[in-house]
Amino acid sequence: MARTVDLTNPIFTDPEAAREHFEAIRWPNGPYCPFCGVVDRVATLGGTSMGPGWYHCKDCRKKFTAAVGTIYERSHIPMTKWMLATHLMCASKKGISAHQLHRMLGLPYKTAWFMAMRIREGMRDPKFGAPLGGGGKAVEADETYIGGKEKNKHARKRTSAVGGMGKEIAFSLIERGGKVRSHHVPDVSAATLRPILVAQIDRKSFLVTDDAGQYRHVQEDFPAHQTVNHSIGEYVRGPAHSNTVESYFAILKRGISGVYHHVSQHHLKRYLGEFDFRYNERASLEVTDAERTIKAVKGVVGKRVTFKRPNGRQAKAASA
Ligand SMILES: [Zn+2]
Repeated sequence: MARTVDLTNPIFTDPEAAREHFEAIRWPNGPYCPFCGVVDRVATLGGTSMGPGWYHCKDCRKKFTAAVGTIYERSHIPMTKWMLATHLMCASKKGISAHQLHRMLGLPYKTAWFMAMRIREGMRDPKFGAPLGGGGKAVEADETYIGGKEKNKHARKRTSAVGGMGKEIAFSLIERGGKVRSHHVPDVSAATLRPILVAQIDRKSFLVTDDAGQYRHVQEDFPAHQTVNHSIGEYVRGPAHSNTVESYFAILKRGISGVYHHVSQHHLKRYLGEFDFRYNERASLEVTDAERTIKAVKGVVGKRVTFKRPNGRQAKAASA
């Protein structure tokens, strides 16, 4: 199933090719002014002082490049490396660490770290769309603990009050044959999970959860609710199974523990966004690596952000 990553593509080596590639993704209908929105009064900026890729708006008289208003804005990283890093993160099922990006791209580790965080932000769906599921469709919901020791993993339900300590909780909803939406939640109480279920899942769906207490009253919102009793080793009972979400968690956990080793509480939502993105744009839905990468690049628009590091210091946008 491994698809070839064509690292000889000029978009990864030639600055002009990378810029034109990005412009074509950012502006499929031609350049527009990111400041005033004008489309038909934009001209390329002549002269050599600014270098190629600069445009000028004849309406508001501002100058800009395609990077303005995106996570690439103010970045000193060449566009070739943004394209390559995005491709690598989109093409590897379990993700790629900042250490590996640092070695492969020849950038300082800190720069690679910020870069990966920005790419993740491009992958993240800031506002989930229409609810998952619907009449005749199955949606599985489950929670999992991220981090902590291997030996605690299987006892997650019975020992959640104790075994869950020091771990972060991901709550995922998956439509079978469809998309996943993961949430970083503070606890697994009904008060926390119910509003997410109600907002994100069509009530006509066939909803499958385990039989934990927090799902006891789910039937009121979802008449076609079925439970799976994991504590007695029951995993498959006809369509009442949670195999889909369980296998999603397997990829997520292998990725986070094997590739990223440690994910801070502050950034977990970005990692969840990354894994959700790759799952939702997966090969079995006929999405190629190239198409997935283009989608991730499209996502950089309107997401210019600065990150706080775990120690609370504001990260300088200039360092990436
Ligand atoms: Zn303008």
